[in-house]
Amino acid sequence: MARRPMMAANWKMNKTIREAEEYMAALLPRAADAEGVDVAVFAPFTCLHEVARMAEDTPIIAGAQNFYYEDSGAFTGEVSVPMLQDAGARAGIVGHSERRENFCEDDDMVARKAARAVEAELLPVVCVGETKEERDAGDMWEKVSGQVRRVMEELDDPDGGSLVFAYEPIWAIGTGETATPEDAQDAIGQMRGLLRELRDDDFADGVRILYGGSVEPENAAEIMAQEDVDGALVGGASLEVESFMQLVEAAQETVPSEQ
Ligand code: PEP
Repeated sequence: MARRPMMAANWKMNKTIREAEEYMAALLPRAADAEGVDVAVFAPFTCLHEVARMAEDTPIIAGAQNFYYEDSGAFTGEVSVPMLQDAGARAGIVGHSERRENFCEDDDMVARKAARAVEAELLPVVCVGETKEERDAGDMWEKVSGQVRRVMEELDDPDGGSLVFAYEPIWAIGTGETATPEDAQDAIGQMRGLLRELRDDDFADGVRILYGGSVEPENAAEIMAQEDVDGALVGGASLEVESFMQLVEAAQETVPSEQ
């Protein structure tokens, strides 16, 4: 089954409102007609509304980098799924390793956030991945499969289009050290196999699984060419429109042209 590739920009804690506007003004005319590829921009809360407003009536998906699973209440500093949707977000990153490591998000919290997003039809991009120590100890699959299983346990009858997974080996994020295309395929292929076992063929064949970790214009084509890799979640190389567009174009290369 052909899955629609996704190229997703994670700006992390970067960009003022003015910088976000400038970026979107440059991105929109170039990315809005990116045939066959979903282009998403995950912006900080402070500029999300502006990014979403500019992306309105275009295919570009505005998304948040985090949210909480409760809808409202005494959760100082948190932002809920309905609040994101009110700001125009259509997607949200869940369980990025920087949140798991720096803000103590565990598998239970990540699973609850993913479930709340699916329920509200906010597309979650659920991140999983192992540390360098875990990989070196041969524990990559134990870690990644545990993270995937916990998310799937929490979901109530999802279909493959209702969420996206991102395999992001922690040792490759922001380090310039990319997984080899074979490593990315190996982990993502195993994830798809697990999802087939946990749910069914329709789900496993329909759900998109991205790779993330130092994706750059130089290595994107090789990674995107892997059978089970459906796109990329990109930090550093997404901060400039020029390099992000090169990644969008690399994703477009993988889309079969209509005869
Ligand atoms: C990320 O932010 O998810 C990421 C993969 O960052 P980078 O591309 O900078 O490694």
